[in-house]
Amino acid sequence: MPSLSDVIAALETLWPPHQAEEWDAVGLVCGDPEAEVTRVLFAVDPVQEVADEAVRIGADLLVTHHPLYLRGTTTVAATGFKGRVVHTLIKNDVALHVAHTNADRADPGVSDALAGAVGLRITGPLVPDATDPSGRRGLGRIGELDIPLTLAEFAARAARGLPRTAAGLRVAGDPEQLVRTVAVCGGSGDGLFGDVRAAGVDVYLTADLRHHPASEAQQQGLLSDGRPALVDAAHWATEWPWCEQAAGQLDEISDRHGWALRTYVSHQVTDPWTAHAPAPEALSSTSSARSSRQSPEATLPTSASRPQSHPGAPR
Ligand SMILES: [Zn+2]
Repeated sequence: MPSLSDVIAALETLWPPHQAEEWDAVGLVCGDPEAEVTRVLFAVDPVQEVADEAVRIGADLLVTHHPLYLRGTTTVAATGFKGRVVHTLIKNDVALHVAHTNADRADPGVSDALAGAVGLRITGPLVPDATDPSGRRGLGRIGELDIPLTLAEFAARAARGLPRTAAGLRVAGDPEQLVRTVAVCGGSGDGLFGDVRAAGVDVYLTADLRHHPASEAQQQGLLSDGRPALVDAAHWATEWPWCEQAAGQLDEISDRHGWALRTYVSHQVTDPWTAHAPAPEALSSTSSARSSRQSPEATLPTSASRPQSHPGAPR
């Protein structure tokens, strides 16, 4: 069985820590480098439910995309939710390793997995890494669909390809507009609108789009041909496909070294949004008078319609 330091060294070949952004906090958060590793769980968020899942399946190592601590701390007391995660992990001999912006920029990285989940043929990064002579690393990805789809069909494909979340996907653009070229960025992507426009793609799939950047992109598009249309998914959903990709990468390394590691991917939906209130029909009109609107009694889904959570399944 490999030691934790063996496994971390392997993970660092996949996602070199020096490729992380300066502000980021990647690498080993807790764990004994000498400890043996037999089971590894991959997840997006190092939250309590995921730490509990790691304990439940007997994992020795939890690998998450998001950091537990992004800024310095003076306490890991279990009175705080982060300290409680640290206590859960250490008391049960589970190490925590983070691959965040270094996994975003890697080849393959987070956005390759996202592009794969929605059926794109990748043509290159959205923002190439200037230090990569191969031109394959960088932020986001640009890809093509095999056949053009309407925006509505593409959004439906994205909804099928990504894990289900309560909020689903939001779409901006003409549903009948044909799309063939797509930019994707796993996680919050509204900082890359300039690059998306420069790429001249038909549609941009990302997460966490805010009103002003999205509105301005749309208004800018109206000056020309309406591009790019926007598809906004849950942050967690756009990054979850990376967990499957990462587990597959570690499986390959494990096979090569004869480590016989067992890798698992958490299917727990850790997106913070847990319900969605659909707009009543009358509110979809663009200029209805206030008095003619129906009472906006949104029908909140019951807990039964919340996304399902599955414990980590062996891969
Ligand atoms: Zn993220």
